Amino acid sequence: MTNIYGVTHKCLENYFENINEKKFKATQVFEWLYQKRINNFDDMSNISKRVIEKLKEDYSIHKLEILNKQVGEDVVKYLFRLDDNNKIEAVLMRHDYGNSLCISTQVGCNMGCHFCESGRLKKVRNLETCEMVLQILMVEEDLNIRISHLVLMGIGEPFDNYDNVINLIEIINHPKGIALGSRHITISTCGLVPKIREFMNYDKQVNLAISLHAPNNEIRNKIMNINKVYPIEEIINVVKEYINKTNRRVTFEYIMLKGVNDSIDNALELSRLLKGINCYVNLIPYNETSHIEFRKSSKENINNFYDTLKKNNINVTVRREFGSKVSAACGQLRSNYEEGI
Ligand code: SAH
Repeated sequence: MTNIYGVTHKCLENYFENINEKKFKATQVFEWLYQKRINNFDDMSNISKRVIEKLKEDYSIHKLEILNKQVGEDVVKYLFRLDDNNKIEAVLMRHDYGNSLCISTQVGCNMGCHFCESGRLKKVRNLETCEMVLQILMVEEDLNIRISHLVLMGIGEPFDNYDNVINLIEIINHPKGIALGSRHITISTCGLVPKIREFMNYDKQVNLAISLHAPNNEIRNKIMNINKVYPIEEIINVVKEYINKTNRRVTFEYIMLKGVNDSIDNALELSRLLKGINCYVNLIPYNETSHIEFRKSSKENINNFYDTLKKNNINVTVRREFGSKVSAACGQLRSNYEEGI
């Protein structure tokens, strides 16, 4: 049975029309689910018993189970159990500008980035829309907070689960839903070019981040399998198209890997690659994982890299390090939890 937390406002309107009810009932249901946060249909007190019975026949209403929670400074990592016993993680980060939640989009991941822990378990399945919506609801409820920013940077490749991710945005961005502003939502992709092209026609102002991590194909091929399918020049071309079409600035994520991609020459090459593109580069200090072949760049290398980009007029920031003590940092999330933390 379909879990109601994965149903868009539009679909609910259609549903009510099909059963000869007024479509404004969709708004009432949304208010119960996302504003009043009830846990069962019987609590929807402005909806008739008859309609409630019908809803119960057609939809389930249940949440995720929190299996584990690790609390660090400014960060809380959640392990959730899904209905079919698969497990996923989400990470809450408290910033001075608000609460940002990093959610998973798949169980496992097939993209095969060599440095990333999350991809050690191959993709088992896509997350349903409701499973992504519920990561947000569960954390808000558990900590009694409101999430102000959402990043799709947990386990999985969001553009390998495109339709469900779009439905997620439709639900949480809806004014009667969680009403999270589209500019506060960021999708991060390893660079699935056809999906980036599709996404540029989506009418919401959601932020796009591309995991670039290298200034040329030679290095990128060594660390990201996906580059053999969509090499750098194709990514740059589609990003240019995207910016032309949407007028939005794109973020390039760049993990700093010691001796792999962190030299001054690499920074110069990256500057040439991105010259004139309306973008900014987010340098990510690598979080070391059990992939012993990769080490994090020294502070000095990160600073030199940063300065080189700056001097060449590339907008650049260094990502604040979060959550490494509770293995909640980028690339440390995993779905095969039992195998050890
Ligand atoms: N599949 C998507 C989203 C998940 S990864 C993507 O590739 O963008 C989110 C970000 O964390 C990506 O930029 C990813 O490359 C980065 N990342 C992965 N492992 C990391 C690690 N060990 N340290 C720092 N960042 C990492």
